[in-house]
Amino acid sequence: MNNKCDIIKDLLPLYAENMCSNDSRQAVAEHIAECESCRNELKKINTDVAIQADSDVSMFKRIKKRARIEKVVISIVSIVFVLSALWYAQFFLINTDCTMDYEKYNLAENVTVEVDDDGMLWLCVNDEAACYDYIWPTLVDANGIKVGEEGFDKNNKGSYDVTLCHRRVNELAMIMFYGNEKRTPLFNINEKDFKSVKYYDEKTDTEYVLWERG
Ligand SMILES: [Zn+2]
Repeated sequence: MNNKCDIIKDLLPLYAENMCSNDSRQAVAEHIAECESCRNELKKINTDVAIQADSDVSMFKRIKKRARIEKVVISIVSIVFVLSALWYAQFFLINTDCTMDYEKYNLAENVTVEVDDDGMLWLCVNDEAACYDYIWPTLVDANGIKVGEEGFDKNNKGSYDVTLCHRRVNELAMIMFYGNEKRTPLFNINEKDFKSVKYYDEKTDTEYVLWERG
């Protein structure tokens, strides 16, 4: 190896990529025609360039494949999201608030109140009662204002009625919620000052008394 070889070897990478001037190009071509060492060096560089190009292609393919997988995952997630939104929307639309209908939902004979020995008052619903899954107690204060179910948690000393309101549940939702508790604790009559539990029928504007403090 001589000094000339060193200069040529510096130029070989540019030569391989076709990036050197015409004069340099000619000089390199003339030299490698008669120098085996530099010829071998050029072969090595050409092989490296080919491998580099290959790995670029395979990386591109990998990126493309990953993009495709991401697309599929996003599609699946979107579909699941839309379907569950529809599923919940269905119940939201079906279970809209409606006026009470004491007769229609068989509430007169089939929704009752029991008081345990310890004073706990329970709302009891039997299988004959339609719509019972959505019966929620509502507190009505002395001014006739409904304060909602959460009123049970407040340490309220006032003298209240308890009115039960409900939401419409059609057959589909009935199946969905069927098997819920048949007996629900409302409050302890020794701890709360409620004077009665009533069932309010908006349709006939009638309050049915389920329980009254004796
Ligand atoms: Zn050489």
